[in-house]
Amino acid sequence: SETKSIVGRFAPSPTGPLHVGSLVAALGSYLIAKRAGGLWLLRMEDLDLPRVVPGIADDMMATLEKLGFKWDGEVLYQSRRTEQYRAAARELQQKGLAYACGCTRKEIAEIASAPHEGELVYPGVCREGLPPEKVERALRVKVYDEVISFEDGIVGRYSQHLSASCGDFVIHRADGPYAYHLAVVVDDAASGVNQVVRGCDLLASTPRQIYLQRIFGFPTPDYYHLPLVTGPDGSKLSKRDNAVSLAAGRDLDRDGGSLLCAALRFLGQAPPPELQDAPPAEVLAWGVAHLNLGAVPRTPAPFL
Ligand code: GLU
Repeated sequence: SETKSIVGRFAPSPTGPLHVGSLVAALGSYLIAKRAGGLWLLRMEDLDLPRVVPGIADDMMATLEKLGFKWDGEVLYQSRRTEQYRAAARELQQKGLAYACGCTRKEIAEIASAPHEGELVYPGVCREGLPPEKVERALRVKVYDEVISFEDGIVGRYSQHLSASCGDFVIHRADGPYAYHLAVVVDDAASGVNQVVRGCDLLASTPRQIYLQRIFGFPTPDYYHLPLVTGPDGSKLSKRDNAVSLAAGRDLDRDGGSLLCAALRFLGQAPPPELQDAPPAEVLAWGVAHLNLGAVPRTPAPFL
């Protein structure tokens, strides 16, 4: 029988060195793609250039290599794909699915209903045309009164009513980069990605991305959202904890295998104790051969 060939990816933002949260995303995406005999691509989400720290992308790749990860094909840099994002945004505008918005954040905050999970729901002021006294500040995509629902491979069914939870959302700011949601959807489609494995912090963004895939006519990938790493006491990982480089204070040439074993345990896997001292490539191979998706926890936990 014909089975679909899997294309997964790891898409870190090079705004700081690889941290344990990104290690979990790298490992999870690698294992799930390779378990299916698929490809595993690497994409640098360096779209928001002012926040990108020079040299970090190279540093991340060196760390991944030390940990035995081998990606397939060329690395994709979002900073080099502005033309593709521009064309995609223009397409939505031409189809009447996106419009120029002149509202400031302050204006939106004044008229928006109570924020939904910390996000302001755009009240649609500029939807029928930019009022003459306003200047274009952003491009928004129109959403409709519909529930977007998908079956996550780890979390299970997840649904979101777009007009109630975010409203028409921004795909480009006049003075800034194209929005992450647009770039991710355009890039995954361009690279043939059909499996997205990433942290649970992006679960609530997924319906917006699925919505964009639908209006572009792109296929929707399979999704797997991994548990988030918390601080030791279960609290949200602080910026400081989060910023700790994987490489800092660790000799990855010596400790890479044990670090990967810790990441495997975080993902609910049970590597045998003797694997601690094995080279990273061997730990990864064990992970691919023994991956038990059902054991991946659904709740945040510290990385021990
Ligand atoms: N660049 C995002 C991050 O590092 C991940 C995006 C994705 O996997 O879709 O959090």
